[in-house]
Amino acid sequence: MSFAQFYQHSIDHPDAFWREEAKKIDWHTPFDQVLDDSRPPFAKWFVGGTTNLCHNAVDRWVGSRGDAAALIAISTETNTERSYSYRELQREVERCAAILLSLGVARGDRVLIYMPMIAEAAFAMLACARIGAIHSVVFGGFASNSLASRIDDAQPKLVFSSDAGSRNGKAIAYKPLLDEAIRIAAHQPEHVLLVDRHLVTMERVEGRDVDYATLREQHLEAQVPITWLESNQVSYVLYTSGTTGKPKGVQRDVGGYAVALASSMQYTFCGKPGETFFATSDIGWVVGHSYIVYGPLIAGMATILYEGLPVCPDAGIWWSIVEKYRVTRMFSAPTAIRVLRKHPVELMRKYDLSSLKALYLAGEPLDETTSQWIAGELKVDIIDNYWQTETGWPILSVARGVADTPTRLGSPGLAMYGYKVKLLNESTGEECGANEKGVLVLEGPLPPGCLQTVYGDDQRFVDTYWSTFADKQVYSTFDWGLRDADGYYFILGRTDDVINVAGHRLGTREIEESISSHPNVSEVAVVGMEDKLKGQVAMAFVILKDARPAESTEGRALLEREVMAVVDRQLGAVARPARVLFVPQLPKTRSGKLLRRSIQAICEGRSPGDLTSIEDPASLQYIKAALA
Ligand code: AMP
Repeated sequence: MSFAQFYQHSIDHPDAFWREEAKKIDWHTPFDQVLDDSRPPFAKWFVGGTTNLCHNAVDRWVGSRGDAAALIAISTETNTERSYSYRELQREVERCAAILLSLGVARGDRVLIYMPMIAEAAFAMLACARIGAIHSVVFGGFASNSLASRIDDAQPKLVFSSDAGSRNGKAIAYKPLLDEAIRIAAHQPEHVLLVDRHLVTMERVEGRDVDYATLREQHLEAQVPITWLESNQVSYVLYTSGTTGKPKGVQRDVGGYAVALASSMQYTFCGKPGETFFATSDIGWVVGHSYIVYGPLIAGMATILYEGLPVCPDAGIWWSIVEKYRVTRMFSAPTAIRVLRKHPVELMRKYDLSSLKALYLAGEPLDETTSQWIAGELKVDIIDNYWQTETGWPILSVARGVADTPTRLGSPGLAMYGYKVKLLNESTGEECGANEKGVLVLEGPLPPGCLQTVYGDDQRFVDTYWSTFADKQVYSTFDWGLRDADGYYFILGRTDDVINVAGHRLGTREIEESISSHPNVSEVAVVGMEDKLKGQVAMAFVILKDARPAESTEGRALLEREVMAVVDRQLGAVARPARVLFVPQLPKTRSGKLLRRSIQAICEGRSPGDLTSIEDPASLQYIKAALA
């Protein structure tokens, strides 16, 4: 079957298509209905069926491949390496699940996981799935304010954390950030369960904080049965940035997600039981959920969980892992490849990479130079894939597990099965023709695996994602795109105020809010500026309440450091702007709206665009002067 036929079948006969796909996972009880779309845009998949993500990822394989490697945790930060077979992984997950139960975590309770990339983080996710608790993993690079807003939104019964992460051999204490977040938050978790890596000393709160290793000893023999969940119960909430400062909790189901991952592991990632998958992302991001933890395990593969930089001890580290574990499929981000490209290629060439069959790249646009360079070095297919936290698995790519579709430089590929992708004209809402730029949208119902709603806020789900066009209820990706005559899509940037720094999605409003809390900041605009290495970086333009300290070069440098420190402390270093520049005025429309796109254009040396509504054109000169 050609890919076009396969795709068309998924669109024309979704019931038949997904009924077949659902056979790729175990169901405890069969579903009554493939799709219930009676209340759009809230689609329900595999209604009435009961299943469990942990069962499908772990227990299902114990009988047939119990001794095969399941999780390989490698840390070049602590120089440790540990491989868990499926049987060992099941034991660890049961111990962790028993600990959670002993601390009062019940089905439907939220557990916030704020962890470095260590095996216990994966145990925790799988243990939650096992007992029907809802996990919410918060990226370890986020600081107190980001963490506090997520605690208040998810209202976790328990927080699972650790003394510290580590970067470039330096411990980054998590516990003080967590304590501060809980102090700021209105919601108070009952317990904080701590894995002590002995990287830093930790202060503990009597009665609230409990030690993982101690409790694990008490539950060594624990057997915790699977809690079977109706397919549409919630598996997890993962926060992501949007146009407002308040992060959105992307809520995912159980059955649809398991099926979508099982399918994509076969069709897009071509993973086979017994092979090794290596995704270099972090469990705090969606790639970590779908393709470090759940996807590869559901496919019966060994998955690598890597803590460390791509260039430490040197830029050959990832390739040494590929050689050692005979990795067949690797998943990374373009920025990481651009970083590696700056290092001597000998560091890559000295390893035997013959096991590798494809490299998948996602999260940000893949430029042609990077793509061609890495393809030339690895001599394997480089497969770009475009998707979002919200969708959980690729919207655009090529499905080599279906047909040998060629890739096209600069394009993440074709619409994937199940996704009704359209490009609509921003003002008319009409469908775009070939090579015409439009807003990339998905027609409902969204396929299995995509978000069910915004956690705790159905209205926000409808208002945010489904209300871009007045006369059509379609899901907006908030990306610009175009499609060529052969159906290949090209992504042309965001339609909203979200920027993408090294594949990490950041809301400029959230950074602005944080900067505004500096006592001398009166107003601020944050925009994304093109960057050769990271794709984009954040630039902050600040109006001071008292401009005198910024009169001297040293004064400006000091203030810039201060503002950056505020962002580091509140949101984390991931959100830190590349530059903080001081201006007496910001470009705004007469109605007072910040002209972020004009500021961005000036930063990138382009024309500021349509200025008919600008209040004071002189404000643009201030931006130029600050950049000079
Ligand atoms: P996130 O939800 O953090 O995964 O970010 C999703 C956003 O990253 C998308 O809406 C795009 O703006 C961007 N993105 C993800 N993958 C790609 C890709 N392959 N090419 C271009 N942009 C991408």
